[in-house]
Amino acid sequence: MREGVAQYLGKARKCSCGRVHETPLKRVVIEQDALQKVPGILEELDYHRVFLVADQNTWKAAGEALEQELVEAQIACEALVFSEQEPVPDESHLGEILTACPPETEILLAVGTGTINDMCKYVSFRLKLDYMIVATATSMDGFVSVGAALMLNHVKVTKDAHGPVAVIGDTKIMAEAPMELITAGLGDVLGKYTCLLDWKLSQMINGEYYCDYVVDMVRGAVETVVEQGAQIKKRDPEAIRSLMEALVVTGIAMYYVGNSRPASGCEHHLSHFWEMRFLMEGRKPVLHGTKVGVGMIIVTQMYHMLAQETVDFSAAQKKERKVSDWEQKIKTSYLDAAEGILRLEQECGKNNIEQRNQRLQIIEKRWEDIRHTIEEQLPATEQLIALLQSLDAPYCPCQIGLPIEMVQEGIEVGKEVRNRYTLLQLLWDLGLEETYSKQIRTWLEDLEKRG
Ligand SMILES: [Zn+2]
Ligand SMILES: [Zn+2]
Repeated sequence: MREGVAQYLGKARKCSCGRVHETPLKRVVIEQDALQKVPGILEELDYHRVFLVADQNTWKAAGEALEQELVEAQIACEALVFSEQEPVPDESHLGEILTACPPETEILLAVGTGTINDMCKYVSFRLKLDYMIVATATSMDGFVSVGAALMLNHVKVTKDAHGPVAVIGDTKIMAEAPMELITAGLGDVLGKYTCLLDWKLSQMINGEYYCDYVVDMVRGAVETVVEQGAQIKKRDPEAIRSLMEALVVTGIAMYYVGNSRPASGCEHHLSHFWEMRFLMEGRKPVLHGTKVGVGMIIVTQMYHMLAQETVDFSAAQKKERKVSDWEQKIKTSYLDAAEGILRLEQECGKNNIEQRNQRLQIIEKRWEDIRHTIEEQLPATEQLIALLQSLDAPYCPCQIGLPIEMVQEGIEVGKEVRNRYTLLQLLWDLGLEETYSKQIRTWLEDLEKRG
């Protein structure tokens, strides 16, 4: 990893997985005083008219200083600074960017993290302009992703967009970000442990496409972060750099593969499920990476439970699944979103019984191999809890106001949000999802008591 992210940029890479991996990302600069390099990068990439977008927080953290750098370098720059601390990525704010963007603009410069990045990603895509992100915090891995998470008509949606041409992360600035943003980024990074394992198991069970090279690059970046875990609390710039690199490498991995498989497994499905319910119930939102971190702990624990499980495969083969029961469960858990979930199942048939039974045959045949893979690839749950705990980051649902019933529902039906094979589908195949949701409840209640 010490070669840094640069090794993944530029040339297309012919891989032993049979695909050619490439990314449109041209520059990644993650270092101290990276801000000062922005004018040079703009020159190199031939952009001369810049439109900078920030909010109150990110303007103070980096926007103001960046504008100064651009003025000194005589690069034409207009800026939009939202009046809010954290603008919602809705129609009104998207419209504000659109109307404030001068017609001669050549590139949008997003200064911020999640929301600002998503909005600039989307508006620049619609305007057929490039954009660059100057990250102010290491809070999530969406910097390089292609989709933009927006709030349209009061509903959270992901719209097609494009990735940035460059990612700039000034470690001095990112190290000063609120600690909860930093640890959220860590949660998103640690989620890669479970998501990569989900991917591996799907390769073993379904013959899904899998790339060792991509897995190694993500895992390597995650391990570098874990090694420096203790330094994150001290806001050590080197640890913050590793964290940002891991977030960017994950983004590049998604480009390499063409979807979010290397970044998102059932820890993310749990997070999406909870987020949706929080939104519907008007609960206070929780940062994406923080939810992913909590989800990752639960998934890790269930994986370790499974590795010790004595599975009754013939009972699993015979287990009946009434469609009407399932539909009822979806309606009570997904509420307003149930229709979309039912439609997805009609399209993809992930719960089709014949296919389940075919999978069960393979799972039974490869059971030892599967158990071994789980033990080999996943750290102990306690180790991951200790890491989050040492940074005062949430690891237990109770710490983020997540009701235990919602955790249980997530384990039982969270897999329905996407057509992607993960531990949650594997538990369903084995007929274990309800047993595990009860056992996890007890386990979490003990964890909560322990404090
Ligand atoms: Zn490959
Ligand atoms: Zn994520």
